[in-house]
Amino acid sequence: MALLEIKNCLDPVLRKLCLPIENIDGELVTLAENMVETTLAAPGVGLAANQIGLPWRLFVVNIGVETDKDNLVTVVNPEITAMEGSEIGEEGCLCIPDVMAEVNRASQIEIKGYDLDGNEIRYEAQGYLARAFQHEMDHLNGILFWDNLGKVKRDILKRKFKKKIKEQDA
Ligand SMILES: [Zn+2]
Repeated sequence: MALLEIKNCLDPVLRKLCLPIENIDGELVTLAENMVETTLAAPGVGLAANQIGLPWRLFVVNIGVETDKDNLVTVVNPEITAMEGSEIGEEGCLCIPDVMAEVNRASQIEIKGYDLDGNEIRYEAQGYLARAFQHEMDHLNGILFWDNLGKVKRDILKRKFKKKIKEQDA
């Protein structure tokens, strides 16, 4: 197991439309295990493969996020199959450290994909977990959470982020 380096939001890999995974092999399983470990260490609620530099359709999400028990699942080639309602809630991203914003998301979703054995899996989620799935799904399509905000709000957050990066480099 190993911790993976999380890219920051200026990295072009985060703007990539990630590619479907054709083979679930040992390499992918190891990658997923490392993504789980990286998410827990960060700590974060989820992590998409392009956040660690690989433009593939794969993410991990902690479906135990609203309980005390971590339960990280890996979803390969995820698709959101239903969305309902809307809800505004606070969101952050491991690629944009220390920046939070209110984002509007569907309040209930259904998602399907494949597990690491190649079996089809489906999850129904609401509230914060539905938000986490939508956030990770956006990553696979090259979208960052602040893209869902107006330009003015986004520019404020970007300035905040760039200032933070400068402080870290100093
Ligand atoms: Zn994110």
